[in-house]
Amino acid sequence: MGTEFANKAIECSIENCKHHCCCADYCSLEKIKVGARDNDTTKLHCTDCQSFAPKQGCC
Ligand code: SF4
Repeated sequence: MGTEFANKAIECSIENCKHHCCCADYCSLEKIKVGARDNDTTKLHCTDCQSFAPKQGCC
C-alpha cells in the first residue's frame, strides 16, 4: 500500500513522516506502534509513534 491509502482509524498530522497519507491527515499504515518516550507516562508528550520514519530529504 502506498501513501495514497488513508487509514481512517489512525489520524495523524505529522507530514514529515514517510508513512503520512499524501492527501489527508491520516496514517497510511495498517497499524502503528505507540510507546513511551521515557518511564514517565503522565503527560501527553511522553508518548511517541514508534512507527515514525522521516521522509527522504525532509529532515
Ligand atoms: S507512522 Fe506514526 S507518525 Fe508516521 S504517519 Fe503513521 S501515525 Fe503518523
